[in-house]
Amino acid sequence: MKTEKLLPDPGSWIENIIQNFIENSLENSLKNEANEPAWEEALVGFCSGSDPIFESYKEHVGQFHFTPAEIFNLTFPESPAEPEELSVICWILPQREATKSDNRREKIYPSERWARARIYGEKVNVKLRKHVVATLQDAGYEAVAPMLSPQWEMKKSERFSIASTWSERHAAYASGLGTFGLCEGLITPRGKAMRTGSVVAHIQIPPTPRPYTDHPAYCLFFKKGSCGECISRCPVGAITEAGHDKLKCLSHLRLTTADYVKSHYHFDGYGCGLCQTKVPCESGIPEGTLTS
Ligand code: SF4
Ligand code: SF4
Repeated sequence: MKTEKLLPDPGSWIENIIQNFIENSLENSLKNEANEPAWEEALVGFCSGSDPIFESYKEHVGQFHFTPAEIFNLTFPESPAEPEELSVICWILPQREATKSDNRREKIYPSERWARARIYGEKVNVKLRKHVVATLQDAGYEAVAPMLSPQWEMKKSERFSIASTWSERHAAYASGLGTFGLCEGLITPRGKAMRTGSVVAHIQIPPTPRPYTDHPAYCLFFKKGSCGECISRCPVGAITEAGHDKLKCLSHLRLTTADYVKSHYHFDGYGCGLCQTKVPCESGIPEGTLTS
């Protein structure tokens, strides 16, 4: 077993690893002609593996949703850890202004930049997850990216139609990075137009404070009974006052837009994100939600 590198401030060390990757890695690319970066500077947050919120996700998401200790110990059965010895590392990758601006103009299909962010940008996110895991392991700390684990899978959910064994948005909520909107997107201090990633590691990092107590704290619809702009942005009626119809959304996203992306942008991909752009929560926490 490797000796762990002593880290006086593991939170800052990990945050620097993530920021350096996004800022300096040639991987951060939309793979378009201009080779534009896919993502802006990341937001990073942490929570403890023993945070009781993960037990509550078993009630809220489904019994199949892993706690950090479950996914860690399934990955490392030879060196299991107690929940309190683990931390969940989460990040938000905000969309760039050019990508959001293009998508604001769209009414049915994604803009090219948005579709590229969905496909090539997510590949960047996969590489970032692997980079964080590899850097931790080089320093002597076992780590797993749940989304890249063979244990990760989609499940049928009574409440949500479909759900998965690890939700990165729920991990980010637990790590103080944002709250849910009517459309089920995570509204972060840099808005809802973003992607998120997470790693569970055998390292103790002080948790990021959660500046909210309820899951829709930053959504105007839930807090003020106003807005609902994501409802009209959805081209297929997948968002109503009752919430988000995942199956309707997925059918548009994975089937309809795939044909469009192939025939118009000439790569294999898909995307939508119309409900994430041209809405008050696109690029930040909407004004008015933080006051009672
Ligand atoms: S657009 Fe409005 S209703 Fe929809 S998630 Fe954002 S704040 Fe909530
Ligand atoms: S991603 Fe597109 S299809 Fe899905 S809810 Fe948002 S606007 Fe509707």
